[in-house]
Amino acid sequence: MASDTTATVRKGSCLCGNIKYELTGEPFNALLCHCLNCKKVTGSPFWGNGWFFKKQITIHATPEDSIKTYEDSATDGGSLLLRKFCGRCGATMFVESELGPEIIIVSVGSLDKGEKPWKTAKECYAKDSFGWGPNGEGVEVTQGPFVLDKAES
Ligand SMILES: [Zn+2]
Ligand SMILES: [Zn+2]
Repeated sequence: MASDTTATVRKGSCLCGNIKYELTGEPFNALLCHCLNCKKVTGSPFWGNGWFFKKQITIHATPEDSIKTYEDSATDGGSLLLRKFCGRCGATMFVESELGPEIIIVSVGSLDKGEKPWKTAKECYAKDSFGWGPNGEGVEVTQGPFVLDKAES
């Protein structure tokens, strides 16, 4: 993506600013997850995110150990999720998973003021939805987990 000078660049950070990042280009997937674990970790009715390739993101953490990892093994699908958060302010930032070592999932709510959010495409775990929406038009809703199609890199 570095050679594409027209690609969108978005900046984001945690609440306290110890973790900052730049994202280049669009996510190859974006979804709202209503699963119980995403509710717990965000404290919200659902977690909105974007799926990127790691080569699209540059992360700056000051101090370097600002990014803490919670190993979430009690997932519905049974796969281990590495949930990354700020050790100072607790902001939910990223998720990495054994399903795709080249993939990083980014919290859409961590985008900085003025940055245009990407559009969400899917909702998953609708069976666990509180019914707080959004069920946006054109959004594909699945009752269970999101199944990753073969990602293009
Ligand atoms: Zn922070
Ligand atoms: Zn979830």
